[in-house]
Amino acid sequence: MVNRFDGIIMYRRDYRERDLLVKILTRQAGKRMFMLKNAKRPSYPLAGDVLPFTLGQYEGKLNPKGLSFLDTAIQTTHFKNITEDIVINAYFTYIIGLLDAAFEDGQPMERWFDMTVSALAKLDAGMDPQVIANIFAIQLLGAFGVQPELRTCVLCGRNDMQLDYSEKFNGLICARHWDEDEHRLDLSAKAVFYIQQFSVVDLAKVNSINVSAPTKANIQKFIDLLYENSVGIHIRAKRFLDQMTKWQNVLIKREKGDEEQ
Ligand SMILES: [Zn+2]
Repeated sequence: MVNRFDGIIMYRRDYRERDLLVKILTRQAGKRMFMLKNAKRPSYPLAGDVLPFTLGQYEGKLNPKGLSFLDTAIQTTHFKNITEDIVINAYFTYIIGLLDAAFEDGQPMERWFDMTVSALAKLDAGMDPQVIANIFAIQLLGAFGVQPELRTCVLCGRNDMQLDYSEKFNGLICARHWDEDEHRLDLSAKAVFYIQQFSVVDLAKVNSINVSAPTKANIQKFIDLLYENSVGIHIRAKRFLDQMTKWQNVLIKREKGDEEQ
């Protein structure tokens, strides 16, 4: 039976001499691994339709187990900025890596498909890629079985005082209890505000968020701590992003140094 489905090309890898394996996030049937016969030949008719990060409507055979097969592409969209800008590309690769790690192949993930379509459009339109990646990372915590309390103080339920994240208590704690965790994360009030927003926001409805560099560093510290200690997965693209951030900081420091001279 042939199925028509919406899909996002997640990644691809060589398979045998002339074939490709392509992982597609489908709206209707979750992630599936497709075997594309002869796809490495220059004459392969769907070559332009199966490039990474293409969004399209396809037809093929979706098998519940084993490999699926692609017959044709009805219509495809390419996102130029995402494929050409290495920074945006790295952030989207990281998002795809998170989705791949969080769900089994074939597991329904329609909501995440729609959110990824929003991400493609917003990244291509120039929205801050780190903010978009942060929204995914925070909202995916639940899929990894990690559910910190981010709405109110985990100890007293109030939110009328400044909140900070406590790994010990697995959630936000208000200033009344700060002496109960000497290793609290020391997040700024702004960072906590954005972390709370990011955990519930509908990405499709966000048009632009301007977060300052220090606040972003704070939010990232929170996400990195949770992914390091509670989720425990390492996404390859993240290492590149970390190195890039390190270099950016070196350059900022150098520029500041120049000004002071
Ligand atoms: Zn409290």
